[in-house]
Amino acid sequence: MDNYIYQQKIRLINYLKEGGFIKTEKVEEAMINVDRSIFVPQKYINESYEDKPLPIGYGQTISAPSIVAYMTELLELREGDKVLEIGTGSGYQTAILSYIVKEKGLIISIERIKELSEIAYKNLEKLGLHKNVKLIVGDGSIGYENDKPYDRILITAASPKIPNFIYDQLKNGGIAVMPVGSIEEQKLVVLKKDELGKITIEYNISVIFVPLIGYNGFKLSNNEIN
Ligand code: SAH
Repeated sequence: MDNYIYQQKIRLINYLKEGGFIKTEKVEEAMINVDRSIFVPQKYINESYEDKPLPIGYGQTISAPSIVAYMTELLELREGDKVLEIGTGSGYQTAILSYIVKEKGLIISIERIKELSEIAYKNLEKLGLHKNVKLIVGDGSIGYENDKPYDRILITAASPKIPNFIYDQLKNGGIAVMPVGSIEEQKLVVLKKDELGKITIEYNISVIFVPLIGYNGFKLSNNEIN
């Protein structure tokens, strides 16, 4: 990593801590050790450690580091957790999850755009974080039956409502985090299922994600190709 990017990284981590986006050592360690520049297209490489989303092609974006850190904190991940992620994108958030749950854990991440899923796999491989990751190409708005139930579920695309599959595919004692709202703006929703299966739902900060597209998501208009 060149010196400019390294300096930017130190500044960013301090900013994320001071701003309350990073709260625990676990998340700090992951944000320090997973190199975001690997997941950013070459032409934006110098912006890897600025706190903003960046284009990754196919009309999609890699989320801003503050949002990645914040959502990861809300998930309260533990080593060994089995996590379902919807919206692999560049694979950056996937890498953060993989780093925290470690080799005993498992991340199942679904992406609807095949090319992005392939790029994400290569990115994860470069960091050796692919071993506990299973990437699936398909519509994640219906979740993923095959490996349910999950300790944690994270959706990284904007959903018009809390998708029904969450209630069925989340384990008792589990936590799901997802942006819910309109295309223009969403609230981060934290849904918890207690040991008896009782659900509580909290609405957190406002965020802006690209739309979840699919059965339980938004519908594509006719002039969009992807
Ligand atoms: N977490 C990613 C950012 C994801 S952007 C990162 O760190 O880079 C949201 C992603 O969700 C996009 O790649 C988009 O193609 C994908 N997506 C949208 N609808 C989806 C669906 N129904 N199933 C799976 N992936 C979906």
